Amino acid sequence: SARSRGVLRAEQLSMVFGGVRAVSDLSFEVQPGQVTSLIGPNGAGKSTALNMLSGFYTPSAGRFLLHDASLQGQGACKVAREGVARSYQTSQLFGSLSVLDNVALALPRGRLGALLGRQAVCAPAARERAASLLRWCGYQGALSLKAGGLAHVDRRLVEIARALATDPEVLLLDEPAAGLSREDKALLAALLRRIAAAGIGVLLVEHDMALVMEISDHIVVLDAGQLLARGTPAEIQGNAAVRRAYLGE
Ligand code: ADP
Ligand code: MG
Repeated sequence: SARSRGVLRAEQLSMVFGGVRAVSDLSFEVQPGQVTSLIGPNGAGKSTALNMLSGFYTPSAGRFLLHDASLQGQGACKVAREGVARSYQTSQLFGSLSVLDNVALALPRGRLGALLGRQAVCAPAARERAASLLRWCGYQGALSLKAGGLAHVDRRLVEIARALATDPEVLLLDEPAAGLSREDKALLAALLRRIAAAGIGVLLVEHDMALVMEISDHIVVLDAGQLLARGTPAEIQGNAAVRRAYLGE
């Protein structure tokens, strides 16, 4: 697609809530064309990190950049426009709209439709693009189904198609495999690899270690808000500090 994909750089990000340091001095990179996973025990600061990188939280200190432009403190809309897309743990789809319209409305040209009234009105080109994105993501159901009635895995696929409709450079995912069957996790894993192969930088927060080890190019381990280790899956699996803190050994 049209954008040249950049590296998302987190530089010494910190987030303090009241007196609690949820994230401390965190630096890492999300490379285009790679899956980078952010892992760590409950409360380690993973969601807080995603909330900073998607513009929902303004970091207490530090910054993050895409194409060397600082994005912290600019708000979620600006961060999304600059190319950092996010799919959420809880569904953000419009339940009463069709699967197709949910994706078409996220397309740059689809937004016009939202201004024309409560009914979604999307240009034929936007509908075609949305349909092909949905199929590319592996969605096999009817395009006219209301998103509110979707099965769990289909909702995930539609959410990802919707995030991709914004033509992002980086895609942030918060536990996309939660609640999926083993077969559906395999579909999701293949999709995330396909997204990376298309040149997008994927940042994955995920609890399923088998999935993380299978699909990650790079892993960042957080513990109590701090960077504990980073490396390839093999390096992380062999890291004694990680095994002690996280894998329970
Ligand atoms: P994870 O996603 O790794 O489980 P979180 O980022 O949700 O961890 O939380 C990290 C720490 O920050 C925890 O101690 C949590 O209680 C605290 N925390 C997270 N969000 C808030 C908030 N909005 N207000 C106060 N404390 C928070
Ligand atoms: Mg979390």
